[in-house]
Amino acid sequence: MNDIHDLLAPYQSDLTDCEIETLAVRAGQYRTQEQEHSEAIFPSSSYVFRSAAEAAATFSGEHPGNVYSRYTNPTVRTFEERLAAMEGAEACAATASGMAAIYAVAIAHLKAGDHVLCSRSVFGSTIVLFEKFLRKFNVDIDYVNPVDADDWAAHCKPETRLFFLESPSNPMAEVADIEALARIAGAANALLVVDNCFCTPVIQQPLALGADLVVHSATKYIDGQGRCLGGAVVGSHELIEPVIGVLRSAGPTMSPFNAWVFTKGLETLSLRMKAHSDNASILAGWLQQHPKVKQVNFCGLASHPQYELIQKQQSLPGGVLSFEVAGGREEAWKVIDATRMISITANLGDAKTTITHPGTTTHGRLSEAERLAAGITQGLIRVAVGLENINDVRKDLARGLDAL
Ligand SMILES: *Cc1c(COP(=O)(O)O)cnc(C)c1O
Repeated sequence: MNDIHDLLAPYQSDLTDCEIETLAVRAGQYRTQEQEHSEAIFPSSSYVFRSAAEAAATFSGEHPGNVYSRYTNPTVRTFEERLAAMEGAEACAATASGMAAIYAVAIAHLKAGDHVLCSRSVFGSTIVLFEKFLRKFNVDIDYVNPVDADDWAAHCKPETRLFFLESPSNPMAEVADIEALARIAGAANALLVVDNCFCTPVIQQPLALGADLVVHSATKYIDGQGRCLGGAVVGSHELIEPVIGVLRSAGPTMSPFNAWVFTKGLETLSLRMKAHSDNASILAGWLQQHPKVKQVNFCGLASHPQYELIQKQQSLPGGVLSFEVAGGREEAWKVIDATRMISITANLGDAKTTITHPGTTTHGRLSEAERLAAGITQGLIRVAVGLENINDVRKDLARGLDAL
């Protein structure tokens, strides 16, 4: 294969044996003859050639170079290489959104007659994509308990080609044993795909635990400031190549501007994930001893039923927690409506703390029975803890909680 990197080599850093914080700042950057220090943005849909012969050679792949930004773009490539380095992966394909990443994996790796095993606690749009669209093409899907490896093994069929999960889950912080599920998927000849949006590679590296592909919504912590939509698929060359094929033909590729924002987001990701985790840990500890709070779901609490697995699988607890207030919907809404600073929105992974009532928003379309099976009661509140001073966040939540 011809290599674009040969053209871009002169001002590159040597990153041999560097750690994730260093890769986050430097991997994937190829300086141009302008010798710019910061990563450049290339908002160009196509690329020019010196001659018809060079155009022909570049189109055929004989000569390395960009042709069209639905295929490759230098800014997008920098983001892809940086994220791949951080996940410990050979390759990455950037996408227009997190959902485009999941869509591209499904279209690339499934065919009619295949069967998917999916955690029952995944992002709502993922379930809509599977139910409303994959089913149309005769792909069957079963939903299983993310924390119960036996449930996954018991639902495997000869047609099972793909396992899909998020860990920790939203909003209950259920943790799947990625290593155990990778063994079960491998024995079934199925791919294990992990949506690593809540952890990012700073906290959890699913490929090292045996997963085959990682998907991201870069919209969340990778951006970190709620500006751009984007996503990515990370894994081996062999498994990413078909995903790139889908993106080139179907077109849900990442824009160069968004890729630049995400690239700069990666540079501060480890600092931010630590700060989100520290803030969330302080808040969880305070909530746990509040008389109006019945239960707190958070990966950083020693009372978490899978605390031991979390210590093994994650380097930090992350920034999302949920808690159940005494009472029901009315009490939960009172706490939410009493806030004066925290943003009432379902987004997460932002410097700004957000608060949401899953029962009537993100999980509002489920039946009450489905919600209760997933542990989502009407008294449940989710907080995605941001980077403000945590005492201000605590005071904002105390207004409503103390008044219950
Ligand atoms: C937001 C989210 C997605 C979808 O990402 P978009 O960028 O909104 O398309 C997928 N998975 C998880 C866990 C998410 O939080």
